[in-house]
Amino acid sequence: MSGCYIHIPFCAQKCSYCDFHFSTNHTYQDEMVDALCTELEMRSKVWLQENFETIYFGGGTPSILTPIQLQKLINQVKSNYQVVDSVEITLECNPDDCSLENLQKWKELGVNRLSIGIQSFNDDQLKWMNRSHQAADSLNAVKNAKQVGFDELSLDLMYGLPNMTLQEWKDQLLQIIELNPEHISAYCLTVEQKTALSKWVKEGKLVVSSNDQQSEQFELLVSTLKDAGYEQYEISNFARNEHYSRHNTSYWKGSKYLGIGPSAHGYNQTERYWNQANNKVYLNELKKGSLPETIETLSDFDRFNELVMIGLRTKWGVSKQQLFENSAPNEEWFQIVKNYEDKNLLVQTEEHILLTNAGRLLADAIASDLFLIDTSTPLSVL
Ligand code: SF4
Repeated sequence: MSGCYIHIPFCAQKCSYCDFHFSTNHTYQDEMVDALCTELEMRSKVWLQENFETIYFGGGTPSILTPIQLQKLINQVKSNYQVVDSVEITLECNPDDCSLENLQKWKELGVNRLSIGIQSFNDDQLKWMNRSHQAADSLNAVKNAKQVGFDELSLDLMYGLPNMTLQEWKDQLLQIIELNPEHISAYCLTVEQKTALSKWVKEGKLVVSSNDQQSEQFELLVSTLKDAGYEQYEISNFARNEHYSRHNTSYWKGSKYLGIGPSAHGYNQTERYWNQANNKVYLNELKKGSLPETIETLSDFDRFNELVMIGLRTKWGVSKQQLFENSAPNEEWFQIVKNYEDKNLLVQTEEHILLTNAGRLLADAIASDLFLIDTSTPLSVL
């Protein structure tokens, strides 16, 4: 089972906290779609044997594409790859793009899952974030999507925002629950280098939540969504009635994925490739007939560490069989696992290693403690 990720590198405007790859110049959108189609065709020779179960349009802002551009891309995937009949096709969209007309067209094209970037229901927060929408647009987007018949809605919300009190976060959560989506993703605001947010924080113009406040907000997130019937199946992802994101779940379980577009990366369980994160360079390379990529061959250590890092974040945990296929850790490693078990932060079943609820608060630190270090690398190359 494999997934196909297509990166659409355009946005209406630059959100002040964002360091993803995108451009606000849309004059060459058609040219970019043609290049994405070229890359899809070029990579198909190697990926022909794979059965694709998911197609995910991420970005950037994929909902900025015209329906004709989107159709071209979906057709190109279907005509060059083996795609299962029950394929999950997800479109990330901004609330202000979710008009009845657009939604109707996306549905006709086979899009069956929407991931709507609400981020906040507070217009003051949306304003400093420089989002292109307001809270009312989000409510309309969800109403319209339901009216058109989308029954796989995922809504994104952010916490750790400047001046956010616990009560404000609770109100945000109650509002999103009220909309009754099948899936909710909630991410903590991070201050990325070279963003307007990082400049404002350095200048003291904005104060983001402290680590303790973020932890309190995370705990409130988990308990409030649990009480509302949402299962936390990954640290930042919650689903009702097993409406998991099939695309992201296959990624977290270590499946292969094809990545198309500037800055996208792909993984075939042996190698990872990274596409150029520059639209012009990406277009020029493809015009010359070459793939705009850098390839990294993963060592057994890399694969082991990656399985730990992504697997521990999920409710399924890390598969021991998958993990030990790559490398055999030493006694010291098993002792670290045991220490975390004794502290009630990790549990082991016969087949998996998983975090407890308390362990999820420390997921990154625990994962990095379980990484294997390749000590055979000579110091001279470090
Ligand atoms: S819409 Fe998304 S990708 Fe685009 S600038 Fe905002 S946060 Fe970044």
